[in-house]
Amino acid sequence: MTALRLEELTWPQVRAEIDAGRQTVVVPFGAVEQHGPHLPLGTDALFGDEIGWALAERLDAFLAPTVRAGCSSHHLAFAGTISLREETFRQVAADIVASLAQHGFKRIVLLPTHGGNFRPLGEAVAQMPPLDGVQVITFPDVSVLLGAILPVASSLGITPQEGGVHAGEWETSMVLALRPELVHMDRGEAGYVGDLMAGVQRFFQEGVHTISENGVFGDPRRASEAAGRQYIDHIVDVIAAMVDAQSQRSGAA
Ligand SMILES: [Zn+2]
Repeated sequence: MTALRLEELTWPQVRAEIDAGRQTVVVPFGAVEQHGPHLPLGTDALFGDEIGWALAERLDAFLAPTVRAGCSSHHLAFAGTISLREETFRQVAADIVASLAQHGFKRIVLLPTHGGNFRPLGEAVAQMPPLDGVQVITFPDVSVLLGAILPVASSLGITPQEGGVHAGEWETSMVLALRPELVHMDRGEAGYVGDLMAGVQRFFQEGVHTISENGVFGDPRRASEAAGRQYIDHIVDVIAAMVDAQSQRSGAA
């Protein structure tokens, strides 16, 4: 089997696939937010499309369309950013899950591909009423993503400051691997490259603009397509293993 794109099928096709046992669906949650002077606003939504597809292939699942707007209030000082309030975001997630559960999906994987979506998605799942026979899987801590990326970065000689957490080396490398025509490497410049943990706290609580004038957290200048491919492959490996582990824990297939 291979993955199927929910949006490209008719309802009888979806019905038949669910009845035949394809009962897992992956729903990516991205963002439309500034990514410095060199990356497109849809960077995290693109990651949702591509990482979501790769994960759906591993799971023989459906891929639902990426929810493109996410929780990006910390980026609102920059033009073009669209942000959902956390309450709205949780309701969107809950309504999507309720819709899919009604049709017989047994495993619904909510995949955050934007740092600001992890905690709100975890809260959304915790607040959902229990659905009989339906397992909803998400990853409530952004450390899942960083834990997948940091070992690869280290093996490539990229420091955590350079990789950063936003529009730095690794995000830039990943967009170079996926949609190189959207990357303006000639405009790539370092942003915040100070202490990582102190920076992350201000980044989320006070806004990106308080630590970085250009919106970059990290330094994209050594980014490469080859590195991007390695990051993406490893993220998919780590997330697929986590979905398997969570599925086995709950006894679901
Ligand atoms: Zn991003």
